[in-house]
Amino acid sequence: MTGLLPQAPGLSSPGRRFRAYTAKHLDQLTARAGLGAGARLAVRAVATVLPFRTNEYVVERLIDWGAAPDDPIYRLVFPQADMLPSADVRQISDLLAREAPEAEVRATANVIRARLNPHPAGQLAFNIPHFADEPLPGVQHKYPETVLVFPKQGQTCHAYCTYCFRWAQFVGDPDLKMATDDMARVTAYLRQHPEVTSVLITGGDPMIMGADVLRRYVEPLLDPRLTHIESIRIGTKSLGYWPQRFVSDPDADDTLRLFEEVTAAGKSLAIMAHFSHPRELEPSLAAEAVRRIRSAGGVIRTQAPLIRSINDDPVTWAGMWRTQMRMGMVPYYMFVERDTGPQGYFAVPLFRGHEIFRDAYASVSGLCRTVRGPSMSATPGKVSIDGVVEVAGEKVFALHMIQARNPDLVGKPFFAQFDPGAIWLSDLKPAFAPRFPFDRLPDELPGLWTPEVLAPAS
Ligand code: SF4
Repeated sequence: MTGLLPQAPGLSSPGRRFRAYTAKHLDQLTARAGLGAGARLAVRAVATVLPFRTNEYVVERLIDWGAAPDDPIYRLVFPQADMLPSADVRQISDLLAREAPEAEVRATANVIRARLNPHPAGQLAFNIPHFADEPLPGVQHKYPETVLVFPKQGQTCHAYCTYCFRWAQFVGDPDLKMATDDMARVTAYLRQHPEVTSVLITGGDPMIMGADVLRRYVEPLLDPRLTHIESIRIGTKSLGYWPQRFVSDPDADDTLRLFEEVTAAGKSLAIMAHFSHPRELEPSLAAEAVRRIRSAGGVIRTQAPLIRSINDDPVTWAGMWRTQMRMGMVPYYMFVERDTGPQGYFAVPLFRGHEIFRDAYASVSGLCRTVRGPSMSATPGKVSIDGVVEVAGEKVFALHMIQARNPDLVGKPFFAQFDPGAIWLSDLKPAFAPRFPFDRLPDELPGLWTPEVLAPAS
């Protein structure tokens, strides 16, 4: 054993293994929340279209059942009957009630899914790179310096968030799935791209993979021929949904040793931790997991979307950021709910999102003000809402791009007409200009970032 911290006393639970709850447990669990038969059927109908999965830790340690179904953690993982249009819910409910053949239910669910923009931000259309004239599936290269890898075995999570923008990864339709297990091709691609300095291993949740499988994806990135890779990021919600992964699971120590190898190779190991609500930070297991990751050299940055009815108030965010900072994590992003799945149900208007961000930001110390947002991860890049201002007598949104397919656009301010109902970039219209900086001219190509593509808009 290297410098790993031992587990804190009382937190080890040898033999205690992860136990998932899936759609077949839904009726029983929603009954525990006090839902009647009709409401339970409607929830099951929604769960045939959108994924449902939770686990014993979330159910027994995080949810306040006395407050369910309004409890924020309950709403974080349990589908709501009104997340989909009522006609769709009725149609599927009728099929379930008359025990229609599974194929008929699945076909109906697929039609509804197709209307939910399963791959937002041009993920499939623009972001898949090519290697040796062939597409590189399971990889995205949207911004010059960052490549995303979707490991084949990492495309589930310890629990699913109801608002997940990657929900299409979990519904069992291979056409909606991005994944690779071919790290030889991935690293060959990376060797040809010295502009890439960071690889994000993402999912799903890569921490669903055991240490041995995770190693198959991380170790090749430590190849001395990849010195230009400065950081390996792992996107995960396991600190919220299954902190045992770093503390008492049988391979917790092996995982932390792997993290140590990354830092020993001279690279930064960044855990991009998704926390939706301060309650996820309360259990001592979560604190212990954070402590152990940090002891292995990992840096934990935190992020989450702003979600109506789960975390849409400044006190919640300020509390989260302060607690995270105290625990040694770095607040990183507040995102805007993406334009996919049940966006209409969870979205907070952009102007309100900015108010929540500002009020929370104003009430925390400078150490928490590492956080950015609210940010929309949209097709052209990450667009931050900086405020609502009056310019030349016109009320407008002030915005800038935190990240962009076209690097020349990063950090440059621009304006959009104020719209109190706007919830996404596509709802906005440019102000003081005929088009947004990232809008393409008719003869410009869409597509993956390359130096040739997307000359700066003038
Ligand atoms: S943990 Fe992340 S990928 Fe998994 S369901 Fe939640 S938001 Fe989606």
